[in-house]
Amino acid sequence: MKLLASTRSAFLRPVVSVAVAIVSVAALAGSALAHDGDDSDGKSRILTLKLRDYKNQMRELVEGGYDIAGANPDTGLVDIVQRADSRQPFDKAIFGQTVDVRSFDPAIAPDPGYKNPAEVEELVNRIKNNHPDLVQVESFGRTHEGRDLWAIRITAPATTKDGDKPVVFLNALHHAREVMTVEVALDAAEYLTTQYATNPEVQNWLNRAEIWIVPMVNPDGSNKVWTGDNMWRKNTTGSDGVDVNRNYPYRWNGCNGSSGSPYNDTYRGPSAGSENETQAMMGLIERIRPVYSISFHSYSELVLYPYSCDGERVPQREVVEGGGREMANLLVSDAGSGKYRPGTSWEILYAVDGGDIDWMYHEHNVIPYVIELNGMSQGFQPSFSAWRNKTVTKLRAAWQYVIKRALGSGVRGKVSSSGESAVDAVVRITNLAKHGDAGQMIKVKSDGTFHAVLVPGTYKLVVASGNRTVERTVLVGGDLLRMDVTL
Ligand SMILES: [Zn+2]
Repeated sequence: MKLLASTRSAFLRPVVSVAVAIVSVAALAGSALAHDGDDSDGKSRILTLKLRDYKNQMRELVEGGYDIAGANPDTGLVDIVQRADSRQPFDKAIFGQTVDVRSFDPAIAPDPGYKNPAEVEELVNRIKNNHPDLVQVESFGRTHEGRDLWAIRITAPATTKDGDKPVVFLNALHHAREVMTVEVALDAAEYLTTQYATNPEVQNWLNRAEIWIVPMVNPDGSNKVWTGDNMWRKNTTGSDGVDVNRNYPYRWNGCNGSSGSPYNDTYRGPSAGSENETQAMMGLIERIRPVYSISFHSYSELVLYPYSCDGERVPQREVVEGGGREMANLLVSDAGSGKYRPGTSWEILYAVDGGDIDWMYHEHNVIPYVIELNGMSQGFQPSFSAWRNKTVTKLRAAWQYVIKRALGSGVRGKVSSSGESAVDAVVRITNLAKHGDAGQMIKVKSDGTFHAVLVPGTYKLVVASGNRTVERTVLVGGDLLRMDVTL
């Protein structure tokens, strides 16, 4: 349901110098945002600041609990949401120079082209009904307010048993106001299902891989965005909500990358994994064990990979960070020049703890990315007609990249022992060309399968379960090798 539906909620950037005139133009157009240099009248605003010292001041902003909407590490610009009813005074002068001020009315619903929870549910079911041969749909959890969390599973044929193929996982809208991310996830489902009949590349992907798509992780928050607060980020647990993407258990509250105050937009929740959405996502990921995952967020035009606490890096930098760089290079910025920027969160934004990608990588060997889509000029809710198609088309290159990579260089197999799946087996993989390579440890799935994405080379695989061990040397080229092991 769309209360207060507006004709257009673009970020208007009118060249007008009188604040009063701008506000009335915006009101007539139903705009959520208008430029406005005066911030003494108690309106909600997004301030664009040019920081004097990007890295250190971003940390100060996070630790101060400010609501950072987006940032550009190249220009040192950052957008801060300053609400009229903010409980926290903000002295912007200490951070740097104010470049722009846009007032917004939180009560105006987003551009009606974007999807609310009921529309997402309807679309998910329509995709299934249009392509029952490829699609299964399930509710994998329920929110605090009782909304279903929907997952779409796409593979050919739809009856393929779980675990037979590499899984790629796409999810959107951990953060309620990031409405464009839902469009990207739904477009992936539409694209794969409608292209399958005629596009040999899509046939190859769906014959060989399983794609899981969660278009809306946080429907309660989304409902709030559509019914009274277009700048809402968290879910709605308690009176103030929890930031679902600071609530995952790995390093929860671990590195000043979240807030302990329920009033702040990065509130981590009362305990690790306390939220229904977090628990449901963890259960789903544990069950399907994706090879790759992309969590779509907005905005800033970044590709983020783990780990997210200061100075921490994953052991498999070649695959994880290299893949992030390749993906970023496929994404041209909305301004038309330059590309998305790859990096860890602590390198190009700020430290994050309790985020999904660190948990996925650490617990389940998933290679996970966050893509912060759209630029600072587009923001959270750019004009649907101007930006929706451009954005979803551009982002196809990213999710298609991870599907192709999941089907490329690497080793996939199943470990069994006396005819049964060796459910407690661990596979250690080391690159023989790298002296002293610590390698990676992969816990097999509950059905005994494992999947390691590798760069071409010669590897030693040591498969161990209890006191039994099998060792193999494999030459990995450009394709995915199948290697089953009996202990
Ligand atoms: Zn986000």
